[in-house]
Amino acid sequence: MAKVLVLGAGVSGHTAVMYLKKLLGKKHDIIMVSPNSHYQWVPSNIWVGVGLMKPDQVKFKLKPVYDKKGIVYKQAMGISIHPEGDNEIESPYVKIRYVEEGKQGLEENVTYDFLINSTGPKLNFAATEGLGPDKFTQSVCTYDHAEHAWKNLQLALEKMENGEHQTFLIGTGHGLATCQGAAFEYALNIAFEVNKRKLNKLADIVWISNEYELGDFGMGGAYIKRGGYITPTKIFTESILAEYGIRWIKRAGVYKVEEGKAFYENLEGEYLEQEFDYAMLIPGFKGADMKAFNNAGDDITNTVFAANGMMKVDADYSGKPFEEWLASDWPLIYQSPAYDNLYASGIAFAPPHGMSKPQKSKNGTPIFPTPPRTGMPSGVIGKIVAQNVVYRIKTGKGGHPHHATMAKMGAACIVSAGYGPFTGQAATMTVSPIVPDWNKYPEYGRDISRTVGVVGLAGHWMKLFMHYMFLYKAKGKFGWSLIPE
Ligand SMILES: Cc1cc2nc3c(=O)[nH]c(=O)nc-3n(C[C@H](O)[C@H](O)[C@H](O)COP(=O)(O)OP(=O)(O)OC[C@H]3O[C@@H](n4cnc5c(N)ncnc54)[C@H](O)[C@@H]3O)c2cc1C
Repeated sequence: MAKVLVLGAGVSGHTAVMYLKKLLGKKHDIIMVSPNSHYQWVPSNIWVGVGLMKPDQVKFKLKPVYDKKGIVYKQAMGISIHPEGDNEIESPYVKIRYVEEGKQGLEENVTYDFLINSTGPKLNFAATEGLGPDKFTQSVCTYDHAEHAWKNLQLALEKMENGEHQTFLIGTGHGLATCQGAAFEYALNIAFEVNKRKLNKLADIVWISNEYELGDFGMGGAYIKRGGYITPTKIFTESILAEYGIRWIKRAGVYKVEEGKAFYENLEGEYLEQEFDYAMLIPGFKGADMKAFNNAGDDITNTVFAANGMMKVDADYSGKPFEEWLASDWPLIYQSPAYDNLYASGIAFAPPHGMSKPQKSKNGTPIFPTPPRTGMPSGVIGKIVAQNVVYRIKTGKGGHPHHATMAKMGAACIVSAGYGPFTGQAATMTVSPIVPDWNKYPEYGRDISRTVGVVGLAGHWMKLFMHYMFLYKAKGKFGWSLIPE
């Protein structure tokens, strides 16, 4: 009997654990350790943040699903990984700390044969002074943040209804933040809601981003096919913002926020300020702050994890200049080079390099988006890691027949641009591959026949359909595995 431990019940880890149980059945133990008692469909938090969905519509309790499937669930945080065991415990283990009511603070060592780290991003509000829902800005990264954001957005809308002008500042809250797509979606949804209430004349909506050009989205931008033309995402994004009446500040690294004021540095090295009444700024992301120790108790965190706390896998981390990086530097199987039974999936794996060209301000401050790992690749990676672990358990061999490199994989992203059965809008983009491959596709970096963008009502319906479809899948209901990641 094998024991597989998965840390983090998000898009990637939850996908992994569901496939592990489905493919391994009752003979093997599958354990999930994750602090939040709920699964959340993160993309729909945007709609919670504009009051069009309640948190209960984007989340469900994990325990009943795991009980039904026979997955052991521990509501706890992974604290440290001990891949060699130690003097007392022979087997590899993870030290966990419970957050569950009644067990809070209790620690346990959970042994494993295989470990999948899917702990996603730690929202690093602390890296920007004054940032975050406890301070001066809103967030839509979790359903409770989004609910809080909606409460404050309502106040701003009420003020406008009483004739008061409001400035909305939406975008990235750190020079190296990623997830521009989510912030972009939120900016468009706010503009849509303001417009719906006919309050546009009282609103100044400002998009602030660390991108060199708009539409970079942390993937170095893209050329997309749109209605028979090939357009850079810069034009695509700027025209959508212009259509929604949103002005923009680009090449900006926000470094401090005070009540009603964001301070940023731009690539010119200027220190500037932007006032706001309401701000939603995405924080920088880092890894889950877990430590690692060898069997002698020595700290090997730097061996297992990269400097940003994300886990090193089968990628090329040699730090070549940006111009020399290749698509093939990206990982195939997400296995730790240090321990062959240790994997990282989703945002938890350390990318080998950025897709956006690194930029520094004249003062030396790095200001550029770090690479995103959106829902689709996170789910696909969770699945193939699970399939490879199953293969190893069932055959006893060390091979990995399943691969999922972001340098070959495509991704679809539907950016909601307003909610409503007849008036809803979304920008639908597919890119293939996610990581540009300039050797294979010298003209556009990607397969232009599969890299497309359209805006319209159909996209809204697709986004809504995906909301229900992915929640159905995540609940493990009949036929769930037939629904693609
Ligand atoms: C507002 C928003 C909108 C988005 N919209 C889209 C979209 O439209 N399309 C798209 O493709 N992508 C979208 N994304 C990105 C998508 O949500 C992520 O790509 C995806 O959630 C990443 O999956 P993950 O499993 O790696 O991380 P997560 O989904 O964040 O899951 C990580 C899990 O690990 C748990 N965890 C954290 N620390 C520990 C620990 N120490 N021990 C154990 N567990 C731990 C967390 O509680 C969480 O359950 C959006 C993101 C945001 C923030």
